[in-house]
Amino acid sequence: MPDTLPELAAEVEKRRTFAIISHPDAGKTTLTEKLLLYGGAIRLAGSVKARKAQKHAVSDWMEIEKQRGISVTSSVLQFDYEGFRINILDTPGHQDFSEDTYRTLMAADSAVMLIDVAKGVEEQTKKLFHVCKQRGIPIFTFVNKLDRYGKSPFELMEEIENVLGIRAYPMNWPIGIDGKYVGVYNRELSQIELFESGGAHGQWIMPSTMGSVNDPTFAEIIGQDVHQALIDDIELLDAAGDSFDFTRVKNGELTPMFFGSAMTNFGVRPFLESFLKLAPAPAARQSTDGPVEPANEEFSAFVFKIQANMNPAHRDRIAFIRICSGKFIRGMAVHHVQTGKSIKLSQPQQFLAQERAIVDEAYPGDIIGLFDPGIFGIGDTLCENGRKFRFEDFPIFPPEQFAKVQAKDTMKRKQFIKGIEQLAQEGAIQVFRQPDIPGEFFIVGAIGALQFEVLEYRLKNEYGADLSMFMLPFGLARWIDGNDGSKPIKGVEKSAIVKDKHDLPVALFSTEWSLRWVTEQNPSLRFYESPTIL
Ligand code: GDP
Repeated sequence: MPDTLPELAAEVEKRRTFAIISHPDAGKTTLTEKLLLYGGAIRLAGSVKARKAQKHAVSDWMEIEKQRGISVTSSVLQFDYEGFRINILDTPGHQDFSEDTYRTLMAADSAVMLIDVAKGVEEQTKKLFHVCKQRGIPIFTFVNKLDRYGKSPFELMEEIENVLGIRAYPMNWPIGIDGKYVGVYNRELSQIELFESGGAHGQWIMPSTMGSVNDPTFAEIIGQDVHQALIDDIELLDAAGDSFDFTRVKNGELTPMFFGSAMTNFGVRPFLESFLKLAPAPAARQSTDGPVEPANEEFSAFVFKIQANMNPAHRDRIAFIRICSGKFIRGMAVHHVQTGKSIKLSQPQQFLAQERAIVDEAYPGDIIGLFDPGIFGIGDTLCENGRKFRFEDFPIFPPEQFAKVQAKDTMKRKQFIKGIEQLAQEGAIQVFRQPDIPGEFFIVGAIGALQFEVLEYRLKNEYGADLSMFMLPFGLARWIDGNDGSKPIKGVEKSAIVKDKHDLPVALFSTEWSLRWVTEQNPSLRFYESPTIL
């Protein structure tokens, strides 16, 4: 086993790498911006509304994002706060790009689940929550928009438990009446914190006054009734609620819960400080050689995202890697396990709040972007020369929509194939072939309809190939065990049997009902959601 270095361990210990998950419009962009404001990475937070009017946000790069005003791809933001080095993995809000979010969660050590106080747990939050749960990472909850009317904190705790199956432990509790909260009560310190205005849109850090809940001046300021209601709520929480158990947080059984308003900055700093203390630093990752400890002196990392043509002027392609162990030094040579090649990492980039910068050093938990000459794939491992282990495979998320695509103009076939192959390698789409039919067309699988629009747009703009696309009447894909695809399967048309990129047979079904029926008709076969468990 390689040595663990103390300097490295100190760098690991101060890192917090996390993603914010939420349903669109819950306030993820606003909260991210406010965390940057508190971290001093930006001086004055622009209101998101103003930014959206320009259809441009810090994390939006692609032209299509600007056109639509939605965030298609994830980016990474890094800043420092009170001795911590924070990496926020930004994720697209639109549910059609949830595959990208799922992969980004592979690079996170914890997640912040953002909930709109009025809407509670929404559809997309549920899906993303379950991916976090499968990953086994701790989930923190921030109830947002407390400057507006919404559900009561007790109601939300119950909803989280009933809908998501996780207990909530409020770390703080809002003070005041619905729609007019004035502060938060810190349960650990039995302290009240009252907030003043941080400007209409919280452009600057919000001043606050802090003190003991028993200090009579607070009862005067907030009113005897409000003060008494707070005391009653706290008593009820202490008596009937869960106790704080960090092991349960780590196991994803208990979510620490916070209240605030990303817009007015109310409760943002108490959340950030408590979260940073509780959230885990980078931990060991599983590999084919056993767990890889972050403070091991040998460098290792994996690719979790590939983004092409971030800068149309250069047509570049960037592979984002998450460092898992050792120290990254610019110019170092590493072993790319999947191709067996040694690669010099000479122009690494880091994404600091608003701009890219060349990075000279980085540590476990950090994310860097590498220029990719077209060799990297999602989930690939990079490690110190001489080592050959791989990190755990990325799960494949079964597509839910399918289309048959081919080049409109046969003269552009070459560009078409190159584009499809590169976009599949990037993970923007999943590509299947129909066996026995020469490669004139592909079957493309996606999770959301917008992915097809992006495919069409990018093939035209980046590869100069127009598409013919026909949607297919399928809604499910299952990998088949027990038939290599050459023999007929009872109840499945030949055209519904395709091969994935590894030549594994996959059957396409229209509904769950037809899948069940075919499973019953073919007892010797097994149908799997993901090829990793074949
Ligand atoms: P995202 O889609 O999750 O990134 O959400 P945004 O950050 O873009 O916010 C969606 C809308 O909610 C915008 O109009 C924000 O101004 C608004 N918003 C965000 N946070 C708050 C909040 O704390 N209070 C109120 N009243 N509005 C908020």
